[in-house]
Amino acid sequence: MTPPPKRPDAVLDAEAREKIHLDILKRTGAYHANDHILLPSGQHTGEFIEKTLVTTEPSFTEGLGAVIAKHFAQWPIDVVLSTGPGALILSHCVARAHPSRPVLVYASKGVSGGKRRVTLPAEFHRLIRQGTKVLLVEDLVSTGTTLKLLIQLVEHHGAQVVGIGALWRRTKKADVRGKPVFSLVSRDFPAYPPDACPLCKKGVPLNEEFVRRRQARRPSSSEEQRAKENAPGKTPAR
Ligand SMILES: [Zn+2]
Repeated sequence: MTPPPKRPDAVLDAEAREKIHLDILKRTGAYHANDHILLPSGQHTGEFIEKTLVTTEPSFTEGLGAVIAKHFAQWPIDVVLSTGPGALILSHCVARAHPSRPVLVYASKGVSGGKRRVTLPAEFHRLIRQGTKVLLVEDLVSTGTTLKLLIQLVEHHGAQVVGIGALWRRTKKADVRGKPVFSLVSRDFPAYPPDACPLCKKGVPLNEEFVRRRQARRPSSSEEQRAKENAPGKTPAR
C-alpha cells in the first residue's frame, strides 16, 4: 500500500526549514556550494561541509540545538550522549534546551586492535544504566559507524536509545540500527572520479584547499612542538 501523499504545505515547510539551516551553516563558513573541490579520496565534488567549522558560532549552535531539543521534547530523556568535540558542543545546546533537563555525558573515541571503538569514562557509568533513556547527538552523520558504536555502548549498559539528533545527515537511510535520525539538513552531495567529473568537463578550476589543509595538519603534535622549540628568536621559558 502506498502511503498517503504528504500535505504540500508540510513538504514546503520542511524544505524551507532545511534551507534556513543550510544558510546558517553557510554563514559559519562550514558549507561550501557551487565550487569544484578535490576531496582527500581523490574524487571531485561541487559541495562540501567542513565538520570543524560547523559549531564555531555559539549563537547559531544554540539555535540549532534548540530545534533538535524541540523535536524530542515529547520524550522524557535522562541523558544526552555524544562523542567528538563538535558533537559535544552541539549536545550541550540540545541538553540545555530539552524540557527533561537531561545530564550530558560523552564517550571517548579510539582505535584498538585496528577497530574503531567508543568507551564511556568510568565516572559516567552510574549515569547510564538499566532503564536510562538516552538521546544521541551527532554533528554529521555519514556512514553511521560512530552512532552504531554508541548504540551498542548504551545497550550494553542496559539503557535505551530514544532517538538520534544531528545537524546534517549525508546518508539516505533515516535510521541507524532501527533508531530514527532527526537531522536539520538531510543532504548528500555526489562525488566523481576526475575522469567522469562534470565540473572538470566544464573547465571549472579545481579547489585543492581542503586537501592541502589536511596535509598541513598531518605532522604529529610532538613534531610541531619540536619545530616551535627550534624556531629562531624564541625566548626561553622562565
Ligand atoms: Zn572535477
